[in-house]
Amino acid sequence: MNCANHTDVAAVAYCRTCGKALCANCTRDVQGTVYCESCLAARLNQPFAPGQGVAAPVPPQPFEGEAKPGLLAASSSPPTGLDLLAASQS
Ligand SMILES: [Zn+2]
Ligand SMILES: [Zn+2]
Repeated sequence: MNCANHTDVAAVAYCRTCGKALCANCTRDVQGTVYCESCLAARLNQPFAPGQGVAAPVPPQPFEGEAKPGLLAASSSPPTGLDLLAASQS
């Protein structure tokens, strides 16, 4: 049998997917498996099996809405209150 693309060239392999006869110039060897060029292109366009969509990881949510403004302000600037109190008493 001759190559499906080159009818005057003897086939050396067959496409694993469609069974097309391929000559040495037409074989697309991928990790030991022979494909024709069109099947390899189709395979490259579908690298993952359908229905196996990867869900995006959910990042940890910040503590929005649970933070206490008074506590946060007191911890962020502790000396300010004492300084103001001392200044007002002097
Ligand atoms: Zn093929
Ligand atoms: Zn060929």
